[in-house]
Amino acid sequence: MSSLRFPALQELSSEEKKIGHYNGKKITAIFSSNVFTGRTIREYLSDEAYKSLMASVKSGNKIDRKMADQIAAGMKAWAEERGVTHFSHWFQPLTGTTAEKHDSFFTIKSDGTAIELFDGDALIQQEPDASSFPNGGIRATFEARGYTAWDPSSPAFIMETGHGKTLCIPTIFIAYNGESLDYKAPLLKSIAALDKAAVDVCNYFDKNVTKVTATLGWEQEYFVIDENLANARPDLVMCGRTLVGHAPAKGQQLEDHYFGAIPERVFAFMQDFEQESYKLGIPLRTRHNEVAPGQFECAPIFEEVNIAVDHNSLLMDVMARVAKRHKLKVLLHEKPFAGVNGSGKHNNWSLATDTGVNLLAPGKTPRTNLMFLTFFINTIKAVHDYADLMRAAIASASNDHRLGANEAPPAIISVYIGTYLSQVLDEIEERVKDKFSEQDEVILKLDIHKQIPELLMDNTDRNRTSPFAFTGNKFEFRAVGSTANCGSPMTVLNTIVADTLKQFKKEVDALIEKGEKKEIAIMHILRKYITDSKNIRFEGDNYSDEWAEEAKRRGLNNFKTTPEALDSFLTENAKKVFFNNGIYSERELEARHEIMLEDYVKKVQIEARILGYIATNHILPAAINYQNVLLENVKGLKDLGLDESTYKAQLNLLKVASGHIQNINDNVEAMIEARKRANNVADTHKRAALYCNDVKPYFDKIRYHADKLELIVDDKLWPLPKYRELLFLR
Ligand code: ADP
Ligand code: MG
Repeated sequence: MSSLRFPALQELSSEEKKIGHYNGKKITAIFSSNVFTGRTIREYLSDEAYKSLMASVKSGNKIDRKMADQIAAGMKAWAEERGVTHFSHWFQPLTGTTAEKHDSFFTIKSDGTAIELFDGDALIQQEPDASSFPNGGIRATFEARGYTAWDPSSPAFIMETGHGKTLCIPTIFIAYNGESLDYKAPLLKSIAALDKAAVDVCNYFDKNVTKVTATLGWEQEYFVIDENLANARPDLVMCGRTLVGHAPAKGQQLEDHYFGAIPERVFAFMQDFEQESYKLGIPLRTRHNEVAPGQFECAPIFEEVNIAVDHNSLLMDVMARVAKRHKLKVLLHEKPFAGVNGSGKHNNWSLATDTGVNLLAPGKTPRTNLMFLTFFINTIKAVHDYADLMRAAIASASNDHRLGANEAPPAIISVYIGTYLSQVLDEIEERVKDKFSEQDEVILKLDIHKQIPELLMDNTDRNRTSPFAFTGNKFEFRAVGSTANCGSPMTVLNTIVADTLKQFKKEVDALIEKGEKKEIAIMHILRKYITDSKNIRFEGDNYSDEWAEEAKRRGLNNFKTTPEALDSFLTENAKKVFFNNGIYSERELEARHEIMLEDYVKKVQIEARILGYIATNHILPAAINYQNVLLENVKGLKDLGLDESTYKAQLNLLKVASGHIQNINDNVEAMIEARKRANNVADTHKRAALYCNDVKPYFDKIRYHADKLELIVDDKLWPLPKYRELLFLR
């Protein structure tokens, strides 16, 4: 078969545009209609079951069997009324995608009667035969059992595809001995640790606070391209990014895409996936064009972090599925196209009390401002002490294309807080002295209050280059990759902040015990934390070379590659903080490290194979075909007896093409050899380093020559859709 490129281009111009619509319905009319939540639970559960479920959601405690039976019966009744025949535990293994294993309600009793059944057992726990999920050696093959266990704090939902409806139960995924094999189990532990630590500190200021939850609002960037064009590129099909392709004459330099009118075909797709998302209770709020051509973003209203993480994973699935309906392809990869911006997933994170206070929003009174500053400064201190863990939490082969390359933000973790708050911290540092009286404290508090504008959100000058920026009432972790499961960075952030708050409480209590007044004790420790964490604060341009140098002087790490970054998970510092807060045992941490390294190796390995294949089976034949055309031409002209000046250009093109062909061939062979060497190394850590340092460098070399050939080979002979077609045609 000839290249898929031309039929795809042909179809594109004849394609009838699909227009989505809301059927005139308000969002509120469909919102959460496929979720077992709110009014629905009240309707389908007895008071007793309802109370038990709510209590478990609040406390995190287990639900007893009898209640679980009742809840399962309620869920089943609700689901069956909506045409559901199957149920599935829905979980997030470390593959980075979501997993489901469907079971039908249908069963046959011992006497042969066929009935539909869904009981407490089926709700609470399942044993999917899931021995093929990554486990980092935690599950020996003879003991390959892994369990999924219900997470009552995330509501069940009905997944509706074109072909049927399934009741999905959000679950954790653990090994037979309880060791975690997914993103959710450690996240839930970190949420509990943070709750406890934050409530303790809150109680210095307000005794009414009994629960603190972390909140997350993610901003998801993505590319949308025509599906047929994508299918004509093996690299997009297999790796989700282009491995070759010359930059188009026009990229993003005119900045005409950013916030421009959304192209109609994409707009229809957006409306459609938004509609599906609303039914699932994902509270999407914004949509707009991003900087690169073909790049877009959506963001929801923030939610409790566990739910927000589930919703982001769900959204990524929904987007991919709905795109197919529109003959579009969503690319969630961090860097689908060289030369234009990549995609990230900003994680906006804050802390909310059960009294309705956002702990990272400046207060209305001097007293609540001190509470704000306490959580604000503790977060900065946490990032300072565990910056390497923050970096490790977002490390992946695909995110290396942003963090390690010349792309926003850099791999150096730093915190941006803006001028107002920088001044406030400077003032505290200066004015809280050894002799710091009650009167000094009152005046300082008042001065601070005057300095922090009430609507800080509108006043923080935005620094778009910072990996971790304070944006008025939340911190924004911008270095997270667009394909990432938010569970990983959120687990780390929750854990390190929990640990820092625990330490803070200990130090403040020690001063109080020595007879210091509470607020003065708090000021003293805050001052100490400000001084200790100064190195992590950076207000300038994070892209600049000066910052890389300055960061080095400050002793901040700049781990540009995943294998390097992941090592931070195995330091004593890391083991201690995860272990002390009950997140990971040493074995779990080592297993996770191993899994992530393996994931890295596999991703680079697949890319290397596909690049070799494209180069050998697509690009070289195209180039050789073109050479043959030139050859015929030169021969013909020569046969006519014309002198060399008439075919000089053709001859030169022939030579240039030959050079590139030879180079591609040599580099592909060398890359295969490098891969073989790496594959022979048993130690995952060393193998990952070899893939990173020996295999990956061939990508650029091969690409260089392939892209040069793209510029000279006859367009009609070029089999792969070009950047201008992928990015601009829809
Ligand atoms: P930006 O200008 O960076 O796009 P937005 O105000 O649009 O910022 O908010 C971006 C995201 O931050 C949204 O998902 C929003 O819900 C979320 N967000 C706002 N407040 C909080 C909060 N207190 N906790 C967590 N996320 C929040
Ligand atoms: Mg933002």
